Amino acid sequence: MGKNTGFLEFDRKTGPDRDIKKRVKDYLEVHQIYESDEECRLQGARCMDCGIPFCQTGMFLGRAATGCPLANLVPEFNDLIYKGEFKEAYRRLRKTNGFPEFTGRVCPALCEGACTCGNNFESISVRNNEWYLSEKAWRDGDMTADPPKSRTGKKVAVIGSGPSGLACADQLNKAGHSVTVFERADRPGGLLMYGIPNMKLDKKVILRRVKLMEEEGVTFKLGVEIGHDISAKEIKSSFDAVVLCCGSTKPRDLKVEGRDLKGIHFAVDFLRGNTKALFEDDHFKKSGPAPSLKISAKGKNVVIIGGGDTGTDCVATAVRQGAASVIQLEITGPLPDSRSEANPWPEYPFIKKNDYGQEEAEELFGEDPRHYFMSTEKFIGDSKGNVKELSVVQVSWENGKPVPIDETRKTIKADLVILAMGFLGPEDIIADELKLDRDKRSNISAEFGEFKTNIEGVFAAGDMRRGQSLVVWAMTEGRGAARECDRYLRKGHTVLP
Ligand SMILES: Cc1cc2nc3c(=O)[nH]c(=O)nc-3n(C[C@H](O)[C@H](O)[C@H](O)COP(=O)(O)OP(=O)(O)OC[C@H]3O[C@@H](n4cnc5c(N)ncnc54)[C@H](O)[C@@H]3O)c2cc1C
Ligand code: SF4
Repeated sequence: MGKNTGFLEFDRKTGPDRDIKKRVKDYLEVHQIYESDEECRLQGARCMDCGIPFCQTGMFLGRAATGCPLANLVPEFNDLIYKGEFKEAYRRLRKTNGFPEFTGRVCPALCEGACTCGNNFESISVRNNEWYLSEKAWRDGDMTADPPKSRTGKKVAVIGSGPSGLACADQLNKAGHSVTVFERADRPGGLLMYGIPNMKLDKKVILRRVKLMEEEGVTFKLGVEIGHDISAKEIKSSFDAVVLCCGSTKPRDLKVEGRDLKGIHFAVDFLRGNTKALFEDDHFKKSGPAPSLKISAKGKNVVIIGGGDTGTDCVATAVRQGAASVIQLEITGPLPDSRSEANPWPEYPFIKKNDYGQEEAEELFGEDPRHYFMSTEKFIGDSKGNVKELSVVQVSWENGKPVPIDETRKTIKADLVILAMGFLGPEDIIADELKLDRDKRSNISAEFGEFKTNIEGVFAAGDMRRGQSLVVWAMTEGRGAARECDRYLRKGHTVLP
């Protein structure tokens, strides 16, 4: 519970962000963590023994989940932090969260939206506390390999190494099963590696974790696409169980006139290309585009279609590559600056954020890059087939549909267009080969909590099962699928939480 009067005595504090002018000259992490144990201790002290800690529930209220989906024991670790018992606090955190170094960096902190202190004061800085605990454990040398004492003799294939696959593999390995993770990309991590930019999650953090998992006995086979390099049926017959964690990778397209022009790309292709080039050229600490970059924003007028977090990551990446201008188009309106009456505490707060990408674009180009209520009607090209303009129109929303306002039609200059409009579901190849049932959104059918598909011994988790979501949900699902897979392998009981 922290200190009785802590929330009255100490203000909320999070780690600082790096200076904008300096940080746009490299690709290193923007957010920084507290500088000392004492800073973290005072933040733990703010946890107020509220009686009903919604922060650890992960329940659905209103439009979305609120509280931690992993059910992290937030008041317990905050109390231990306040008492200076950092090792024990970390142990408590690890009970429910295998990779707090990921969530501590990129989680939108559903817990903080539900925090009781946040109803009247500022919420406890749970995410930063979690991040500090995990980095301290790595720094203090506490993160050493801890392989299982014995092996069960059962073999499990986990397909996909995103946060759901990693969480699942980690748990199954702890339970003593022999786990092989198959990943088609050249590096592990899924969207942790090739979606979320290095500025939010340093790629060394993922590689460090994967190395530890290897030392604990998990095998990673990279550059192997199941359904292509090895058939899904072969995997099914060579392993005792299979867990599918392949993500939701079909991007939503914008099929309007001119879509075939050169210079129009999906967000993940743009972001993946950037991270790959940073690795290939060891360019993380430098400004401008890495030399081997294929889709470059340098000197270009960049238009990003999609106002969500992926769009923000594209803004920040384009800024670093040296774009001449960056505009972000959103078809809906801005969220309110504070909770609306229809969105009361402890629901997840739907409020407008000024995220790192927008801050940076505003600093460099003098205005918020976001333009709201904008619909793109066509792409216009030059004589060489390159995109040069977008024809856009403002819309008003009537009965849930966007209606163009004719007199607002105009063109915007664009030499590079990034489509960041979300994802439509998993790819078909494995699902078709194994004849897996799909739900009405084309995700793999498997009940949450059971994670079983219609094929015996085959489980599904993460974005592949629930649709495009969050890292914390992917990890929650990966852990859940591991538990159910373990129950299947042990014929009815499980040693996993
Ligand atoms: C740009 C971007 C930024 C984001 N930022 C955040 C954020 O800040 N915070 C947050 O909480 N969430 C964020 N998200 C969402 C989050 O990254 C995803 O919800 C999460 O990664 C899903 O995890 P997953 O393991 O289910 O799938 P993924 O991370 O998509 O991993 C799936 C993996 O499976 C592999 N794979 C697919 N098919 C095969 C096959 N046939 N054989 C072998 N391997 C295969 C893929 O290569 C991939 O590595 C972001 C998403 C994007 C696109
Ligand atoms: S994982 Fe996310 S929601 Fe859960 S406690 Fe950490 S920051 Fe909060």
